[in-house]
Amino acid sequence: MSLLTVDNLHTYYGNIHALKGVSLTVNQGEIVTLIGANGAGKSTTLRTISGLLAPRQGSIVFGGENIAGQPAHTITGRGLVQAPEGRRVFSQLTVQENLELGAYLRNSQAEVRADIERVFELFPRLRERRRQVSGTLSGGEQQMLAIAMAAARRPAVLLLDEPTQGLAPSIYGILRETFDKLTQEGIALLIAEQNIPFAASIASRCMVLRGGRLILNTGPELLEQPAKIAALFLGEDARDVPASHSPSGSSGLIQSMALG
Ligand code: ATP
Repeated sequence: MSLLTVDNLHTYYGNIHALKGVSLTVNQGEIVTLIGANGAGKSTTLRTISGLLAPRQGSIVFGGENIAGQPAHTITGRGLVQAPEGRRVFSQLTVQENLELGAYLRNSQAEVRADIERVFELFPRLRERRRQVSGTLSGGEQQMLAIAMAAARRPAVLLLDEPTQGLAPSIYGILRETFDKLTQEGIALLIAEQNIPFAASIASRCMVLRGGRLILNTGPELLEQPAKIAALFLGEDARDVPASHSPSGSSGLIQSMALG
């Protein structure tokens, strides 16, 4: 059974219809990547799921309950957490202080300490740098810290918006290492990415968004063809793309994989 089931999500910015019926599922401990060009709707999808935006239509079932439209802090408290975008850590604060902020939802200091200890076990590199001012960490380490801050809230599902943004490819290994550790803990990841080869290399499933619609839900066979996915970004007709899984629970989604 899936941990998170999103069905037929429609989100607007005023009159702008940004999401036009997005449906997807995320299972425990898996990595699903949401790929698409600028403006495809990746961030809007994540923000709607995490409660930063309220959908006008559709459901988001997490932990057996439809959480669509609930406030972000309630959703975070339930274990569906979005990591700060763009490696947004408090650069004047130390690694430890940032993590303490990440664990702020805990009721007691003892719980905060336990959460941080768990994060340090997951990311020993951060333990080594616990007293270092975050602004002096490398870009990859700052991204690791931003993810660790979210992980300190003990999520079941973690949402990440373009974790490779602004990072040199040489740093991608740190990110992969980070994701591996989280999934080994049973945490599921839903990651928005524009970097197709990276998104393909980490995902068990890869969803392609265009114009606020999910146009493809690929199986591993397509993950080996990043050039094909790139063509989809640019609007090439998907009908010649090898058949893949159809998204579960979708209403009218991907219809015959023809792009509208
Ligand atoms: P990017 O990587 O550029 O952020 P994206 O795939 O995350 O792209 P979104 O940011 O989700 O795309 O944008 C989806 C659509 O919603 C686009 O047409 C965008 O112009 C529009 N949009 C996004 N944010 C706003 C906003 N605050 N106000 C109005 N329209 C917005």
